[in-house]
Amino acid sequence: MSNSKIKHIIMFSGGASSAYIAKWVVDKYGKESCVLLFTNTQVEDEDNYRFMEDVANYIDLEITYKTDGRTPEDVFFEQKYLGNSRHAQCSHELKVKQTILYLNELIREGFHPILYFGISADEKHRIDSLTFNYGHEFALDVLDEHGEIVEMNEMGIRFPLGNMIRTTSDIHSIIEKEWSIPLPRMYKLGFKHANCAGKCVRAGMHHFANLYRIWPDRYREFEEMEEKFRSKFELNVSMMKRKGKPFTLRELREDTLEKMSEEELLAYSLEEDNDYIPCSCSFS
Ligand code: SF4
Repeated sequence: MSNSKIKHIIMFSGGASSAYIAKWVVDKYGKESCVLLFTNTQVEDEDNYRFMEDVANYIDLEITYKTDGRTPEDVFFEQKYLGNSRHAQCSHELKVKQTILYLNELIREGFHPILYFGISADEKHRIDSLTFNYGHEFALDVLDEHGEIVEMNEMGIRFPLGNMIRTTSDIHSIIEKEWSIPLPRMYKLGFKHANCAGKCVRAGMHHFANLYRIWPDRYREFEEMEEKFRSKFELNVSMMKRKGKPFTLRELREDTLEKMSEEELLAYSLEEDNDYIPCSCSFS
């Protein structure tokens, strides 16, 4: 395969690790053969968009935005199915599908696309989820400890972070101190998942408590969307479940969050959601 036909597609999420990987890929292969791909749900926090543009300017590679014009909410209402912690079709429709469509365009033009994710090799659950989403067409390349390809698959998916000795805090420090780019504000506000401006249907109670603590208006908007969906389609559904039953954002707010003191809310919002399953759009 001629190198000029290889396209290195950096799966840019708006997070620090994918930014770090973007620079690594561009330095290694040259920007002419690289694409900084962002599948846009159009509802990201404004500071995520600022961060992405700063990174794109720093590495001197324009972002390729892909969208079909819908937001996650549009997808739920069109499909009459509210995304939830077990099944988030918004991720498939707005992220995976847009990526596959774009890759198919490249393949039709005779390119050989290779995907790069800013995920460490030890995040096995996320790698499994991504290889499941893309795996019917893409397979993992085998790399050595320096990130060099030992065995190249027809179409590869790469997680080069796993081959580098970089911790998350190293990456944050490089971006802030060496690149002089402030990280997206959601990192400092305690969000472990920062896509869709914190309004992710896959999130759990502790994440939503943090959303309520930091941006109560955003929490209310999301709560209203869930209530509107339930009444429009007359369905007893919700994004979260408690004890195997639907548990809405309104119930979480009224039963728990509003009754907490500031200190209790802070402590509760910083706890981990054990059952949280990151989606393919995970901020990394
Ligand atoms: S971040 Fe959450 S709400 Fe947004 S597209 Fe992904 S799964 Fe859907």
